Amino acid sequence: MATQDDTTPAERLRLLQLEFITPRRRGPAASRSTRPTEPAAPLDIDTVDHVQGSVAEVVALTRAAAPDAGPRPASVEGLYGWWRENTAHLEPEKQQHREAVIYRHGLEHALMLGERKVIRRHPCPGCGTWGLFWNQALQRALCVNRYCKDASGGSSTWTLSHLAQEHVNRKEKSARRAT
Ligand SMILES: [Zn+2]
Repeated sequence: MATQDDTTPAERLRLLQLEFITPRRRGPAASRSTRPTEPAAPLDIDTVDHVQGSVAEVVALTRAAAPDAGPRPASVEGLYGWWRENTAHLEPEKQQHREAVIYRHGLEHALMLGERKVIRRHPCPGCGTWGLFWNQALQRALCVNRYCKDASGGSSTWTLSHLAQEHVNRKEKSARRAT
């Protein structure tokens, strides 16, 4: 199994689906179980919502950019590849935006799986230090640097979208430097 550091958004989405969506609800055709026993826990509604919401967002964005895209892949694992394939002709900025959404999904899936430390791998967009941590109540990453404040004097906080966009921009810049 992949380590957490190189787990892709697609793999995480599959993990979420495997972990919480019980196959027996989907009829005999999908009754193969990945566990030796049926999970005792009831269906986790938040996780189901999360998986379905993620899939719906990708499908909507793909269809908006590529109305001729064929049916979405049956498995969630193929979802992001399907999006990339169908939008590979778009201009670079649009593709970068797509990558930022995919990266954000990866962060959202990781948080849903309880991997909060994925947030710490990002420098604070405000002060550049490595003191970000996830605040579940705010649904934002918060900087622990006491000199790093927002406009109202509180700790600076960042959305996952913002962190994802910065991450993709950094990658793009280093890719350009390398060529
Ligand atoms: Zn900061």
